[in-house]
Amino acid sequence: MRVPTRQVYWNIPGHEWMYALFVVLLAVLAWGIWQRASLWRLGRPARRLDQPGRRLAEMNRQVILQARLLRDALSGPMHLLLSWGFVVLFLGTVVVFLKADLGLPVMQGPFYLYFQSLTLDLFGALALIATAVAAWRRYLERLPRLSRTVQDWVILALFALILLTGFVLEGLRIEVTRDPWGLWSPVGYLFGRLFASFLSVGAMRLLHRGLWWFHLVIAFAFLGLIPFSKMFHILLAPLNVYMRSLEPKGELPPMDVEAAAEAGEHLGAAELTDFSWKQLFDLDACTECGRCEAVCPAHAVGKALDPKYVVLNLREHLHAEGPSLLALAARARSAAENGPAEGEGEAVSHLVGPVIDPEALWACTTCRACMEACPVFIEHVPTIVQMRRYQVMELADYPATMQEALTSLEERGHPFRGSTASRLDWAEGLEVPLLSRLGGAEGLDYVLWVGCSAAFDERNQRIARALATLLQRAGVRFAILGDEERCTGDPARRMGNEFLFQMTARENVDLLRRYGVRRILTLCPHCYNTFRNEYPRFGGEYEVVHHSQLLRELLASGRLRVTRPSLLETTYHDPCYLGRYNDEYEAPRAVLGAVAGGGLREMERNRNHAFCCGAGGGRMWAEEAPSQRVNRERARQALATGARRVGTACPFCMTMLEDGIKSETGGDGSVEVRDLAEIVEEATRPAS
Ligand code: SF4
Ligand code: SF4
Repeated sequence: MRVPTRQVYWNIPGHEWMYALFVVLLAVLAWGIWQRASLWRLGRPARRLDQPGRRLAEMNRQVILQARLLRDALSGPMHLLLSWGFVVLFLGTVVVFLKADLGLPVMQGPFYLYFQSLTLDLFGALALIATAVAAWRRYLERLPRLSRTVQDWVILALFALILLTGFVLEGLRIEVTRDPWGLWSPVGYLFGRLFASFLSVGAMRLLHRGLWWFHLVIAFAFLGLIPFSKMFHILLAPLNVYMRSLEPKGELPPMDVEAAAEAGEHLGAAELTDFSWKQLFDLDACTECGRCEAVCPAHAVGKALDPKYVVLNLREHLHAEGPSLLALAARARSAAENGPAEGEGEAVSHLVGPVIDPEALWACTTCRACMEACPVFIEHVPTIVQMRRYQVMELADYPATMQEALTSLEERGHPFRGSTASRLDWAEGLEVPLLSRLGGAEGLDYVLWVGCSAAFDERNQRIARALATLLQRAGVRFAILGDEERCTGDPARRMGNEFLFQMTARENVDLLRRYGVRRILTLCPHCYNTFRNEYPRFGGEYEVVHHSQLLRELLASGRLRVTRPSLLETTYHDPCYLGRYNDEYEAPRAVLGAVAGGGLREMERNRNHAFCCGAGGGRMWAEEAPSQRVNRERARQALATGARRVGTACPFCMTMLEDGIKSETGGDGSVEVRDLAEIVEEATRPAS
């Protein structure tokens, strides 16, 4: 009995010319990759190759299984089929090479039938269907996040043509050679039957020969385009996932401000060479999928910011200016060795202004929705904040209201410039112990870090009062710092004043060390994030608990008992710095589940997909055009649930949502906004 196989290069005399084309392809690929890779060398050092086991595990999840992409019910499977189709067909080509050029007996027997025929045929068909879906989404459904440039349709057309011509070639060969195993390639077989219905054997033979060369040329053209197009992500995306940051999500990359100043370096990113090589690598890894754009709250309300174009504009700039920056760097090296050439000076090619619209830069709320959505783990927020650092620390060129907040933070220890309140006003009549009176944190369950918003915002003082009342009710031993407390520095860091942040962090860590503080309870997710993720680098290692977590525990253990369950239907807004930055989605829902008898109605955008309230990244202190308010959009989303109450767990979100709900309902009081502490305090109030 004959062993199943087929003749490679059947009907292709002179196929050896293919090798000449292949050499050209390799040269183009090598040149293109070198061109791009040499530009990444412009960046500063970054450590992204440690912990290979952890990196490989994540790469497996995100590249092989495409977990993040599969969150999208249609585009996810589509991309999975396209990319796996590409990989399987590529492997099939490698097998042909192993047989035809190395003479290995690989294309025969069951392997030939099951892999080389059936699997390739089916993966090719699925990839073709996925290509059609991709074209439909881009050109018929016209998804706003997808661009429709010449590059986009050339890539789609080439991919579809390669797959189609592959099937036709397979079918023609099966028909003309009367291949006894032809049915193992069912789609190719059908194509063969189709052509046989109107072409003679001679015509099919001729067509096969011509089409084979056409197929080869377009396949090589497609591969050759990779380093010069967005298809570069085929190579870079897996590497970018591998090299993703393993630092806590809530920590912005630190910088040594004093050392940078002493070395005469820019404080932050003034130009491309101030970024790390990984940040430059990010730019080339972008697939232009627009997922970041689709989730960005600033973009959704019509602001100048579009995270996709932050990346693409920087990329364009890198490609345009990179070669001259490389030449400049080479001249600088030579000047360091031989002394500067006459008339040679350092020209700074500024990013903010010529490349990045300042309005876009300051519109970012640092909500991290873009980073959470990006399938290739591009790190937008650190890049944006690094450009802010230069604008703030070197140029002092940033919105006036944000400047006022930072001046207040520096001079008065909090960013609420106009506030006349004292840090202790909220606690009046509550007999909350002060740490200074106790002399230390010994014997306490927690030090309650109140945070600036709950201390100085008159509305939010009610949250602090509710929480302190609950702690007393449950018998939790706690104290506060009172007038000794100052801002954690979060707004300074997110706005770009790293110097002020670090100064504040060191002072706070010193103060807490003097009192022997180990356990901190916060009601503000920004404070929670800073203590948990950013202070350890300054020697501040604490057990940090957010009030939603403690309330869940107190309710579950019975230390707080529900006496009057609230019957209002509630929707919950996930604060970005509690949810996306610290993965705490369940504690607040458990608390609401325990006390809100009216049930919980989720907003369409919830958990890691939640829409920001608009306050983060210093936007709390920015001027907003009424038509471009993120908080109003979030309020509309909350109102769409039909719930009569919006619950949240962040005083900044409280300010934004309350304002948004008032604007959207005309202040008719039909929907209330409450912090979890307030809801629980009411529901567990002892019967009088
Ligand atoms: S962090 Fe949020 S606001 Fe900033 S670019 Fe990303 S999605 Fe937009
Ligand atoms: S940055 Fe990420 S999410 Fe945004 S377009 Fe590029 S690949 Fe897509």
